[in-house]
Amino acid sequence: MKNHPKYERTLVIIKPDGIQRSLIGEIFKRYEQIGLKLVGVKMMIPTAELIEQHYTLDPEWRVKTGLKTIKGYVDKGQTPPHTDPLKITGIILKNLVEYMTKGPVIAMVWQGAHAVEIVRKVTGGTEPLSSPVGTIRGDYVLDSYRMSDTDNRAVRNLVHASGSVKEAQDEIAHWFKKEEVFDYTVSAEQMLYDVNLDGILG
Ligand code: ADP
Ligand code: MG
Repeated sequence: MKNHPKYERTLVIIKPDGIQRSLIGEIFKRYEQIGLKLVGVKMMIPTAELIEQHYTLDPEWRVKTGLKTIKGYVDKGQTPPHTDPLKITGIILKNLVEYMTKGPVIAMVWQGAHAVEIVRKVTGGTEPLSSPVGTIRGDYVLDSYRMSDTDNRAVRNLVHASGSVKEAQDEIAHWFKKEEVFDYTVSAEQMLYDVNLDGILG
């Protein structure tokens, strides 16, 4: 029954600013308390190749991210720096490699029902300024597209979280060896997933 939603997995990375801002515990707590299970974790200083490949695993990423950035400007009544989405992502990717290789990061695999969607919900949107209060990116950082573009750097938003189930599968395989991700159960799962709630009494 491995296609039950409770087996879904997603990749989260605490970016260098998340570690520097002393938010490691807070970030783990948010995902853990919602009921997700940590099935893989490691700290590393990523290479430029690892990061560039990570962001281009999805061949559509360049176009999608460029269009999202343009929309971010237009929604605020501002003019985007370029009208060509690929020009925008060329700059973003170069800045992302610099950002993500600046210091240690923590890569994690979280498992649980609708893990990808739940983690994105808890994490918030790409731009901290417009991320809702209550999300990690909305509560703990104040960056914006306008600030990152003015200073020609990547948006500092504390964490990476996979955007779709397919992206999660590709990203987990990119960051973790098979034997670094663990199959195990925690007792809390009984309350989350057991059909009859057996075992509370007696
Ligand atoms: P997300 O991390 O929310 O999935 P994307 O995949 O679109 O967002 O982009 C990857 C990362 O690139 C973002 O988390 C952010 O750090 C950076 N980024 C995205 N868009 C921009 C932008 N317009 N300007 C600067 N950095 C950006
Ligand atoms: Mg993304």
